[in-house]
Amino acid sequence: MLNGFMEKLVAGRWIAGPTVSDVMERGRRFNRLGIGAIMNYLGEALTSQEDIKDAMDSYREILKRVEKGDRLTQISVKPTQIGLSVSPDMAKKNYAEIVRLAGEKDIFVWVDMEESELVDSTIELYMSQLPNKNTGLCMQAYLRRTMDDVKKVTEKDGTIRLVKGAYTEPDNVAYKTKAEIDKNYIEIMQYLFDNSPRFMIASHDDKIIERAREINRERKKDVWYAMLNGIRNQYLVDLQKKGETVFAYIPFGKKWVQYSFRRMQEAGHISLLMRSMLHGQKI
Ligand SMILES: Cc1cc2nc3c(=O)[nH]c(=O)nc-3n(C[C@H](O)[C@H](O)[C@H](O)COP(=O)(O)OP(=O)(O)OC[C@H]3O[C@@H](n4cnc5c(N)ncnc54)[C@H](O)[C@@H]3O)c2cc1C
Repeated sequence: MLNGFMEKLVAGRWIAGPTVSDVMERGRRFNRLGIGAIMNYLGEALTSQEDIKDAMDSYREILKRVEKGDRLTQISVKPTQIGLSVSPDMAKKNYAEIVRLAGEKDIFVWVDMEESELVDSTIELYMSQLPNKNTGLCMQAYLRRTMDDVKKVTEKDGTIRLVKGAYTEPDNVAYKTKAEIDKNYIEIMQYLFDNSPRFMIASHDDKIIERAREINRERKKDVWYAMLNGIRNQYLVDLQKKGETVFAYIPFGKKWVQYSFRRMQEAGHISLLMRSMLHGQKI
């Protein structure tokens, strides 16, 4: 019964639903407000051929249904859902297929970033399809190494989606306090303003977002803003009305439990959940 209750509470608020049709429908609701949708199939650390095929089929289906040149639809893929937990070669082959199919429709593909021990193989995976103007890589400001990684990827003309980071990492690998993480986020953001023509600020943090907007009033870079569906939807709407390019990251699929626990474990824990209930504004 608790499962049924949680499913309704969470699935409706943060997750589009179990199917490709659900995420396309939720995406269209955002699109009608001028907000883009980044679609992500739930599931990670997949090792069974069947699960990996399910994930691949979901992305194939989105890329089949989406209109060519639809600037408001993007997809975001987790390396370990397309085979990285089996072998780097399998992930590369699957990623190459997704990038090819997306390229035929001129659709943007992101690579999510997972645990720190996967950073090297994820960067290698992403680099395997560069140069490509329609691909981007997520980088996490809580990792001590990230500034160096961002430089490496930016020098190869890669596109960065900058987040704070969502996994539990050891102290020697990751900054732990909000102050340290925010400081690193802003330093990397400044580097991107100085060195990259286009990047994504993926955060719900209004201090960071407003700082980026202020810098960009002079720099006039192609900055995209993104938030997770259901956390601060009204803020996305407000930013869109102010002329910013904004996206909602919308997970879909059956594996909603793991995703929901991660959201609940983040800064603020239950208060984040409660605030997203109050301010999330289902779209
Ligand atoms: C588009 C997108 C893609 C992501 N992809 C990845 C990924 O690939 N890998 C990964 O590790 N992580 C990813 N994340 C998650 C990310 O790493 C963070 O865990 C998550 O975004 C929370 O960090 P924050 O930047 O919002 O800042 P936080 O420091 O958690 O929150 C900052 C501030 O935002 C405000 N805020 C937050 N929620 C609310 C609310 N409900 N109502 C009002 N104010 C609120 C508050 O002012 C709060 O202090 C992604 C996030 C986004 C938005």
